[in-house]
Amino acid sequence: MIIPVRCFTCGGVIGSKWEKYKELVEKGKTPADALDKLGVKRYCCRGLLLTHVNLIDDVAKFKVVAKE
Ligand SMILES: [Zn+2]
Repeated sequence: MIIPVRCFTCGGVIGSKWEKYKELVEKGKTPADALDKLGVKRYCCRGLLLTHVNLIDDVAKFKVVAKE
C-alpha cells in the first residue's frame, strides 16, 4: 500500500527513505547498494524496503460508499 513510516520490528524510521531508494534503483543501483548507501543496516528494515509494492495510487481510485 504505502511504505510504513517505521519498521514493524525495530521501530527505525524508513518512510523517509522510500523515495530515495526508488530513485537509486531506477538509476541502476542494485537494491543492496541502494540500501547500503541510505544507511539501512538491519535486515528487518531492509526487507520492508525490498519487498514493498507501492499500491496506494491504484487503490486510491476507489472509494467506499456507505449504503443506507
Ligand atoms: Zn527494522
